[in-house]
Amino acid sequence: MTRALITGVTGQDGAYLAALLLGKGYEVYGLLHRHGGSEAVQERLRRLNCPGSVTMVDGNLIDLSSLIRLLDRVKPDEIYNLAAQSFVRMSWDQPLLTTHVTAIGTANVLEAVRIASPKARYFQASSSEMFGRAQGAAQSEAAHFHPRSPYASAKVFAHCLVQNYRDAFGLFGCNGIMFNHDSPLRGIEFVLRKITDGAARISLGLATDLPMGNLDARRDFGHARDYVQAMWLMLQQDAPDDYVVATGRAASIRDLCRIAFAHVGLDFEKHVCVDPAFLRPADVDVTVGDPTHAKDKLGWTAETSLEAMIAEMVEADLARCRAG
Ligand code: GDP
Repeated sequence: MTRALITGVTGQDGAYLAALLLGKGYEVYGLLHRHGGSEAVQERLRRLNCPGSVTMVDGNLIDLSSLIRLLDRVKPDEIYNLAAQSFVRMSWDQPLLTTHVTAIGTANVLEAVRIASPKARYFQASSSEMFGRAQGAAQSEAAHFHPRSPYASAKVFAHCLVQNYRDAFGLFGCNGIMFNHDSPLRGIEFVLRKITDGAARISLGLATDLPMGNLDARRDFGHARDYVQAMWLMLQQDAPDDYVVATGRAASIRDLCRIAFAHVGLDFEKHVCVDPAFLRPADVDVTVGDPTHAKDKLGWTAETSLEAMIAEMVEADLARCRAG
């Protein structure tokens, strides 16, 4: 039985990836660094109609020795490093914490792999935020990095380190440069989930307004369910490589509001207002990815349309609000 270890298993991608791997017959271990996360993971698996369960193991990304002991014990065939302080806005308030977890944490995992599990295949969740202020055409794996936040800078470090370990030590390490991806399991602090939750609450009379930040920002939004497929495919290839995971289509935050509110029969312009509290010290104007390499090499494409994903998310938020 193939054995996988997922860091960041308590997040959206952790749940979708665990469900995917359990469905393929894997034995799945999830790294837990705090109490209480275990039930949340099993609850998310139930929401995804996944009958299997994840074995939780204690450890912490910023504690190298705990990671080494863990790899010695679990002996995973595949390691998916999804853990990060992943909220860009918070990285401005907590840049050092973000650096510790997202950058140094990755260095620790890579060192633990090098010492205790050098044959394991390794996936690193890289981020489209690394491209930052890139202008013009869609970004491929060859595009330059211009990180625009402490989070993005930490992700650039982690991305390069995976390449270093691949080149220097022969690590089977892959970076998936993940563009924005959402789902009903996305945290409420992220923009699309905030919008679908707001549209649901307003349509049910539970709220009247939705204060937002920069409505002109444009992002390439896909579904997490599709994106974890790409992660898995990367580790099944003959050789490790880096891949952009994206839809190739950009939508503005205003577009998201329009689609979500229209789904519940409302005009977003009557409810969405701009509140400067949600503006960022520096923002990325537009990111759109070029997934050609993933399509050619992995045979992967983003299957869920933006409209279908937003409809699924609004419906899930309506059901949750109705259930109180
Ligand atoms: P990110 O791309 O990883 O930063 O994902 P987010 O979902 O947090 O934000 C995407 C974009 O939405 C950024 O350009 C934000 O500036 C913009 N945005 C506009 N209003 C909001 C808001 O109220 N909350 C969040 N999280 N983002 C917002």
